[in-house]
Amino acid sequence: MQSFKGLNIPADILGVLEEEGFENPSPVQLSVIPSALRGESVMAQSPTGSGKTLSYIVPILSRIDPSLPRLQALVVVPIRELARQVVFFFEPFLKKMEGIRLQEYTGNTDREEEAAWLSKYQPQIAVGTPGRLLDLINEGLLKLKDVKTVVLDEADMLLDMGFFEEAGAILEAAGPTQVLVFSATLKEHLKSALAKYVRADLRYEGGKEKTAGEVRHHLVDVRHQDRNVAAVRLLKAKRPYLALVFVNKKEEAGPLYTKIKEAGFSAVSYTGDLSERERRRTMRLIREGEYQVVVGSDLLSRGIDLPDVDFVLSLDLPSDSDFYYHRAGRTGRFGKDGDSYVFYDLGEEEKAKVLLEAGVPFDFFTLKGENLVSDPKGLTGKKRRFKPEVDSDQGRELSIVKARMNSKEVKPGYKKKKKLALEKVRAKYRRKAIKAAVRRNAYGKKSGGK
Ligand code: AMP
Repeated sequence: MQSFKGLNIPADILGVLEEEGFENPSPVQLSVIPSALRGESVMAQSPTGSGKTLSYIVPILSRIDPSLPRLQALVVVPIRELARQVVFFFEPFLKKMEGIRLQEYTGNTDREEEAAWLSKYQPQIAVGTPGRLLDLINEGLLKLKDVKTVVLDEADMLLDMGFFEEAGAILEAAGPTQVLVFSATLKEHLKSALAKYVRADLRYEGGKEKTAGEVRHHLVDVRHQDRNVAAVRLLKAKRPYLALVFVNKKEEAGPLYTKIKEAGFSAVSYTGDLSERERRRTMRLIREGEYQVVVGSDLLSRGIDLPDVDFVLSLDLPSDSDFYYHRAGRTGRFGKDGDSYVFYDLGEEEKAKVLLEAGVPFDFFTLKGENLVSDPKGLTGKKRRFKPEVDSDQGRELSIVKARMNSKEVKPGYKKKKKLALEKVRAKYRRKAIKAAVRRNAYGKKSGGK
């Protein structure tokens, strides 16, 4: 297997890679690093957890001139958490490499303080979110004249979140320079948005699969159990070291978190409701192994690197199937195994089918008590029994008929008449229920939901 040593990386950087326990380059690193070291532009499709961050950190640090106190590399990321994480990746290198200054610029950093500092100095590396970076550039505070490298990390997310205009303006301000683009997917609309700014010398499309490949995907039929209860049962069945549990709406996180805590797990909730400071603190504690279960919204699924996640559980299939890839990508990182469980009920097959047809190799389970039982019938082998709901109007009407019949004189054939009258009422409500069920099907698979 090829080692980092053969890649022309300066000795001090090699030393840190070794200290950090990175022995062999991952496929994306193996392709991207040599090309990026030569100053070439790269467009890389690399699944989350594939090692893409080091693919640009190593070339940036190798090409930087520490004696030049000017901005030389710019890393653009879509969200603050990612900026934090990228800085975190840079840190061990910066500790060993003297004279390199890195600054982080996001909506959360102190604008005034930054402006005062930037009017006197420049960092050699800036990591930040598009809006803040562009503000600082437009005001002439961040000076791009000596920039050698611009990185767009999680470019598909930049595009999806509507940051492409800013990203484009940053690339334009940087002028002709090395551009390194990393994206979980390289969809056509992203490629065409980028075409204006990037002429990639290298296109790396190594990881066709969107997650790192070591994730096993499981659809779990919860058989109409309350999903919070089912989540606790699954957690008890699996006893994870660290599990991430995803809800579709952040309001659902609170009740679930309470249930999980009550069941005796050390848990935390991570949603958009946390302040920036709380998010940072929580993320640090999660990394330090403080919690066994993290309940979160999709904020948690976006590019955040938590090593050693045993499994992720989605309480519902996400509304957008791309979210599923981001969620599942939180486990099975860098060669470690992981599992992604998704709860479903009969009636929700369509969303699951979208993922199955896109090639996610789901297997099937049902949750019986605290046991996960393999379900060979899967999605297709099950029949949905039609069980009309009891209509309260029906009960009322039946008692009226009964009362009327009982008040009549008892004549021959009375019993038969009463039976017929009651049957007429029941038949009416059966028809009503069947019509409603047919309507539900016609309107899109709502029957059998939670
Ligand atoms: P990334 O795709 O950059 O988010 O990285 C995913 C994870 O892989 C991080 O936790 C890194 O610490 C780890 N990693 C990156 N490169 C290597 C490597 N060459 N060997 C082992 N682990 C790595």
